[in-house]
Amino acid sequence: MVVEPRVKGFLCITAHPAGCAKNIDEQIEYVKSRGEIKGGCKTALIIGASTGYGLASRITAAFGCGADTIGVFFERPADEDRGRTASAGWYNTAEFTKKAKEAGLYAANINGDAFSQDAKNRAIEAIKKSPRGKVDLIVYSIAAPRRTAPDGNTYKSALKAVGEPLTSKSLDTDKKEVVEVTVPVGDEKEVFETVKVMGGEDWELWIDELEREGLIADGCASLSYTYIGPKLTYPIYREGTIGQAKKDLENSAKKIDAVLKRRGGRAFISANKALVTQASSAIPVVPLYISILYKVMKAKGVHEGCIEQIQRLFSTQIYNGKAIAFDEFGRARIDDLEMRPDVQKEVFEIWPKVETSNIDELTDFAGYQSEFLRLFGFGLEGVDYSADVPLSVALDD
Ligand code: NAD
Repeated sequence: MVVEPRVKGFLCITAHPAGCAKNIDEQIEYVKSRGEIKGGCKTALIIGASTGYGLASRITAAFGCGADTIGVFFERPADEDRGRTASAGWYNTAEFTKKAKEAGLYAANINGDAFSQDAKNRAIEAIKKSPRGKVDLIVYSIAAPRRTAPDGNTYKSALKAVGEPLTSKSLDTDKKEVVEVTVPVGDEKEVFETVKVMGGEDWELWIDELEREGLIADGCASLSYTYIGPKLTYPIYREGTIGQAKKDLENSAKKIDAVLKRRGGRAFISANKALVTQASSAIPVVPLYISILYKVMKAKGVHEGCIEQIQRLFSTQIYNGKAIAFDEFGRARIDDLEMRPDVQKEVFEIWPKVETSNIDELTDFAGYQSEFLRLFGFGLEGVDYSADVPLSVALDD
């Protein structure tokens, strides 16, 4: 079938198998071009491994550190009969697995609900079968809209403000219009449920299970990702419902750190740059901020994508042989370039001036859009988008 992008709001419901594969190949080549990460992990469990920051973590672990990997994710296979493509993360993982195996690395895939006991059991079996039988890196990079917890209840996360509603400029990415949005206040239940989904409870459950099974190697590191960003996005992010969940995640990092320290390991949170991913495109206000940020950072030659961010995190922070340069709250910071005062100053000089008529002039909306489409395998150089491609691609698990 000839596959074309079909964008609905902040989702693209199709994905291009060859384009996603090309995207993975480019990320692998980037990591290889930066050289071997000495003293890196040997067996990595990545929870949320198929897109965005988790995918970049898996690629960096495998092709930077030479690690065996166990990836957990929630992706949809193709349905040839109905002409439905697989999800991008499915194609990403198929290509990653092919390349990892060609490189002689163990790569096991668990496609299932990371919050469930079943996915945990399957990951445990895959770790036991891996060459070293234990993990020395655990990355928790889930971005999910809901979670069925061990108590049997299903909780939903909300992207809302806390305390006061937020009225702000935003971008209607479908219509390419600057609009005003009001983000309502989340009530107590919504805050509670968002913490249940995006907080650290499930990360802690994973560590408990792995510890009980004796699968954590000495010196094991575990990390999860957060976003801090500028004050302007605080009401929707840092101080919003999602921010409350991130605070909970930071508390979990401390508890997990205490567990791993007993084996000479550690756990921490890394604050990463705002980037176009399937998760971030759903957050109000953020796409406009990202479009301006990309413009400023590209002009200064300091723009990075997920793979550049994570390769830098691994090579200069986690495995640089020195102590990690934590901030006062114990977080690693690879959002340093985004938060640079000169970058932020320029972003906020542009912010009040942006309107629908000058989007192209003042922002990198074109870059935002092309990066969004690349997430689904569209717009990559060297891919013949007029060719018939098989939709079903085997996921080696
Ligand atoms: P993403 O949507 O690209 O990736 C989410 C991953 O979670 C995918 O692999 C998906 O398959 C997996 N997943 C979702 N629900 C699952 C489930 N129930 N079971 C198993 N797997 C499931 O998101 P992302 O932007 O890479 O976000 C990852 C982390 O990085 C999040 O904690 C996010 O807050 C953080 N972060 C993102 C940004 C950003 O700008 N995108 C910035 C800083 C931090």
